[in-house]
This record gives sequence, structure tokens and C-alpha cells, in this order.
Amino acid sequence: MLEPVEILAPDTWGEALAMKAAQPDAVPIAGGTDLMVALNFDRARPAAMLDLTRVPELRDWSADDGRLRIGAGVTYTRLIDELGDRLPGLAIASRTVGSPQIRNRGTVGGNLGTASPAGDGLPPLYVSDAEVELASTTGTRRMPVAEFVTGPKRNAARDDELIAAFHLPAAAGAQQFAKIGTRNAMVIAVCSLSLAIWPERRAVCACIGSAGPTPIRATEAEAFAAGVLDEEGLWEGRRPMADAALERFGALVAAAAAPIDDVRGVLGRRALSWAWEEQRCA
Ligand SMILES: Cc1cc2nc3c(=O)[nH]c(=O)nc-3n(C[C@H](O)[C@H](O)[C@H](O)COP(=O)(O)OP(=O)(O)OC[C@H]3O[C@@H](n4cnc5c(N)ncnc54)[C@H](O)[C@@H]3O)c2cc1C
Repeated sequence: MLEPVEILAPDTWGEALAMKAAQPDAVPIAGGTDLMVALNFDRARPAAMLDLTRVPELRDWSADDGRLRIGAGVTYTRLIDELGDRLPGLAIASRTVGSPQIRNRGTVGGNLGTASPAGDGLPPLYVSDAEVELASTTGTRRMPVAEFVTGPKRNAARDDELIAAFHLPAAAGAQQFAKIGTRNAMVIAVCSLSLAIWPERRAVCACIGSAGPTPIRATEAEAFAAGVLDEEGLWEGRRPMADAALERFGALVAAAAAPIDDVRGVLGRRALSWAWEEQRCA
């Protein structure tokens, strides 16, 4: 016979943190769209689960001077509806997650908790240098998302900590997300590419998903694109990028992936050409 699972159901953030401190092996559950699949397939059988769905603080988001703090329990549907104008890259990625039912339940907090290299919410956080806010009864700490995700399905949260929120700047330029799967919808990414242009820093940031144990920033491709925009005077001139530069960018994106795969090059070239067209025509 299966052992019963104890369900802890805090009503407030303070209660949730106290319960996690008292029972560090209790597994948090938000939308349940990853966890319930694991339970159904007998890949997880926790003694206790910490149901976070009644904690109002996790559903809040706020903006302060161009920076956003988004509670771990904000769903993909709300991100698209309420934050699509400020976070277009994350909104495009969110629209590719599962089905409307999954987007109504699933959260970026859960995507971070699972820390899958195929998590579509993660590359848009990497290209915005997002930070993850972790909390316990002993305090709060923040760390860059690239340090938080430590490996495939591994993250840096301690057993007594919960993910409270993530922090990132609102978009200052064009952002794109492109994903390839084995079919058009309801699909895990075979590979994905997130791209953000930051005009005030004259930077182009690119991150590949499903390309290795964690999402990977394509740093050489980023430096190349920023160099082309600078050297050719494109920031001021607002001219299209040359095909050869887009090709080279794609090749450098592909080279950053492990394993190297030309599909990633295609995604890189496509995402940069879309984003630069949007940026220069804005
Ligand atoms: C049919 C289907 C299609 C899907 N399609 C996609 C897709 O296209 N792209 C994609 O990226 N994902 C997809 N997923 C996976 C899933 O929907 C996402 O990973 C989603 O973001 C998980 O969020 P959740 O709130 O449901 O997490 P949950 O299942 O509740 O939790 C996931 C993990 O995070 C932990 N966790 C949750 N909240 C917290 C917190 N506040 N603090 C600490 N730990 C926490 C949990 O303990 C668990 O380990 C799909 C799933 C299904 C079932």
C-alpha cells in the first residue's frame, strides 16, 4: 500500500516559511504541472507536500524604477496578460509553454524549481541578468539565475528555503524567443533561443535552452553582434544587419551549444534578425 502524503497548506508567506523550516523535506507545490506528473509516474513520492497556492504574497508583482519583482507564483497566463508589454521576451516564451490549461496553472517559480535545461521560462531570465530571491525563516538572499541553476534539475536553494520571487529589468529594447520542438504545440523544446537588445548598454544578450546541463549564454555571439552594431554605426544609422553578420552570429550561437547543432545557428540568426528589425524600426 502507498504511504499517505501529508499536505501542508499555509495561508501566509510567514506560515509557509515556518512550515518549510520545521519540515525541510516537504516538497513545495505551486501549479503542480511538473510535480503531479512526477507523482503520477512514481518518479516522486514525498512524505509531505507544501501547497503554496493559497499564499497571496507569491502571486504579487511590483515595479520600481524600471525593475520588476515578480512573485514565484505568478502564472504564465498572468505574465502574458499583465507583463507582456514590459517583458516581451518572457511573454513570447510563456506563450509557447504547454496549453492554455498548463499556462493557467504553471509558474516561472516552478520552472526555476524544476531547473530543467528545457524550461522555457529560463533563457529569457538569463538574457535579462535576472536574480532569484530565496527566503527562509532566517532571512532572504538574492542570486543571479545562472548561479541558481546548478545543473540539470538541480538548483542552489537550501532545504529550508523557498523561491520567493525573481527580479529583472523591464525590456529597454527588442526581445525575442524562438523554440523548435518535434511538433507545433505542447512540446518540450529540442532547442530554444532567447535574445534581448539593451540599447543603453549597447549590448545584445543571447541564451540557448535545451543545449546542455543548464541554459547557456552565447557570449562570443553576443560580443560579435554588439561589435557589428558599434563598428558599422548601426545603433545610430538604424540600418538592417548584413546577412553575413547574421550568418556569423548564428554560427557563433551554434558553437556555444553542447552539442553543437546547426538548428541552434538557424534559431540564433532568425532571432537576431527579428529583434534588430524591430529595434531599428521602433
Ligand atoms: C502537458 C505539459 C506541457 C508542458 N509544456 C512545457 C513547455 O512547453 N515548456 C516548459 O518550460 N515547461 C512545460 N511543462 C512543464 C511545467 O509546466 C513548467 O515547468 C512549469 O513552469 C512548472 O510550474 P508549476 O508551478 O506547475 O510547478 P510545480 O509542478 O508546482 O513545481 C515544480 C518544481 O518547483 C518546485 N517549486 C515550485 N514553487 C516553488 C517555490 N516557490 N519555492 C521552491 N520550490 C518551488 C516544486 O517543489 C517542484 O520541484 C509542461 C508540463 C506539462 C504537464
